[in-house]
Order: sequence, then C-alpha cells, then structure tokens
Amino acid sequence: MTQNGAGNLHKPLGLLAELTHRCPLGCPYCSNPLALEPRAHELDTATWARVFREAASLGVLQVHLSGGEPGARRDLVEITTAARDAGLYTNLITSAVGITNKTLAALADAGLDHVQISIQDSEEKSADHIAGYEGAYAKKRSLAAEVVRLKMPLTVNAVIHRANIERISELVDLALALGASRVEIAHAQYYGWALKNRATLMPTREQVQQAANVVEDLRRRLHGKIVIDAVIPDYYARFPKPCVGGWGHRSLNVAPDGLVLPCHAAQSIPGLEFWSVREHSLTDIWENSPAFNAFRGTAWMQEPCASCPRRDEDFGGCRCQAYALTGDAAATDPVCHLSPNHARVETLAAERDTAPYDYRRM
Ligand code: SF4
Ligand code: SF4
Repeated sequence: MTQNGAGNLHKPLGLLAELTHRCPLGCPYCSNPLALEPRAHELDTATWARVFREAASLGVLQVHLSGGEPGARRDLVEITTAARDAGLYTNLITSAVGITNKTLAALADAGLDHVQISIQDSEEKSADHIAGYEGAYAKKRSLAAEVVRLKMPLTVNAVIHRANIERISELVDLALALGASRVEIAHAQYYGWALKNRATLMPTREQVQQAANVVEDLRRRLHGKIVIDAVIPDYYARFPKPCVGGWGHRSLNVAPDGLVLPCHAAQSIPGLEFWSVREHSLTDIWENSPAFNAFRGTAWMQEPCASCPRRDEDFGGCRCQAYALTGDAAATDPVCHLSPNHARVETLAAERDTAPYDYRRM
C-alpha cells in the first residue's frame, strides 16, 4: 500500500458520483469545472454498477448521486438500484428540474434513501433569475412536496451569496414549510464558476455577520423542528475549513468521464495525475494514484502549516483555493489568518461589482 506520509491510510466513507455535467440550470456558483464533460464521455450504467461494488468493498458507506443534474441520465433508476444492491446508502442531490413524479416514484421503489433539493432563493423571481431558468422555483416546490408525500427524508440546500443573504430566515421558513428535516445554509465556495462570478456573488462582511446572527437565532427558535447546517464563508473566516475532511482522507469523487478526484475541484490544479475507473480499480486509485497521494497526510506541508498544532484538524485548508489564490497548491490556504498571503483574501473579499452573472453553461 503506497502512502505519502499519511500514516495509516483511512478508508473513504463517502463517494460523490457525478453522473453527468449536463444540467438545465445555469447557477453562477456551480461547483462543476469550467470545462464541462459532454454526454459522449459519460460512464455507462454497467461501469457505475461496478464502481459502486468496488466502493462498498473499499469501505464506502454512502453515495451521493449528483451532477450536473442526475435527472439528465435516462438510467438514473438503474444506477440507483445498482448503488442500493451494492449496499450503499443513497442520497440524490438534485435541482429538481428534470425529475418527474414518475421517476421519483421509481427511485423510491428502487430504495433511494434520501433526497436533497437545491433552492436558489425564497422569492420566485429572484430564484429563477439566479438559476438562469424560468419556472425552476415552481418545479422545486412541486418535487419537494412529492418527496415528502413518498415519505422520503428531504434536505433543502440553499447556496448563499449577496443576492439572497438577507433572506436566510425566509429560506429556512420555506424549507420547514416544504417538510424538510434539514436545511443547509451553504455560503458559496469560490472555485469553478463561483470564482468566475466572485465579485458579483461576494457579500459584505456586515452581511455575513448579520447572517451568522440570524442563523444562531433560528437554531434557538427552531430547535427540534429542523436541523440547520451552516458554516462561516471562507473569505471571512479566521481558519480554513477541513476541505473534504482532508485530501484523500475520507471521501472520493468520480467525475462523469470516470476520473477519480480527491475533491470536485481538484482538476483546477495543474500537473496532478488522475486515474480513471476505466483502467483501475477504485482501491488501486485510492491507495496508489499520484493525485490522491499528492497532498495526503502532512509531509507535503510548508510553514506555517508544517509546525501548526491545527494541521491534523484542518489539513492546511483547501488545496484548490491555495492554488487559485497563490499559484502554489502546497501553500497554506490563504483564508487562514496565519498565511503570509492572507491579505490577498481580504483584498478580494472587498472587490464587488454588479456585473450580470456569467451563467454556467455547457
Ligand atoms: S449548481 Fe445549479 S447549474 Fe450546477 S449542477 Fe447544481 S443546479 Fe445545475
Ligand atoms: S497554519 Fe495551516 S494548519 Fe495552521 S490553522 Fe492555518 S491552515 Fe490550518
């Protein structure tokens, strides 16, 4: 077993299966890469079924069926059945646009365990504008009602940015009204499309502080009624988040074309060698692929991370963000206030403009 200063190699617990990059929506903060994979490059049903079996034997417990919009796959029910047959807990991450009630019922029959629906705003006009798709909001409400009617657990995911940060309370009320048991207040992460749209999406420090107060108040008020997940947005935090729970530590990501990535944005780092499930088993990739071993453990770290007591907690932050903001993927994530490049984050957080969204399109 090859390790790169990783000590005992952990087994992954979660697999993000990006079934496709196709999506009818155009969210300007989409975490998909700027270079989207066309349909012709997507893995077929049988290969996904093999990947799920290999994932289960590697120790993975849950699979997130994601995209793009997974509903764009005509074989979504077969793929879900294969994941359940492999013994995995299945979570469908959907925009709700492209999943009919009939498909949802078939997914429920296939044993789908959980559904997560993204909602762009609590106000219909704004929600459709952010999604770049007229009618998206109505479809989301309708599918959410159907999920609850079928007695499947529902999470609402709301990506937060300058256009909706002042309606967090209304978004949580909406999630409650839809029957969700959990709501994720997910501040935009500035990679991929969000990096492209950063100055348009970035809230002010005051808005972020106010949002944190609102969330605290909601948590007190709605305790026992709905679980509210929220984290401080990167650019205003003192310490970085433990990105993907540590590089090659707890999770892996299979892209639509079969490349296996330590995180969804890893292809933004040049020079990394990714292996594909078309040529290697998932175990071989997890243990031996150069990309997974590039930033495992702590041996690759520079100062101040290398001697920092938090290095096993946050793993030096996000490698993709370090690369995007400093040009060095092994640098301390500049979000950390101890990073010598932290001033750059403060400058970027202060940059705002009112340019129209650069929508995510194929
Ligand atoms: S973030 Fe928006 S554009 Fe990207 S996959 Fe999800 S729904 Fe589609
Ligand atoms: S210096 Fe590195 S390890 Fe320490 S808190 Fe900052 S990012 Fe984390």
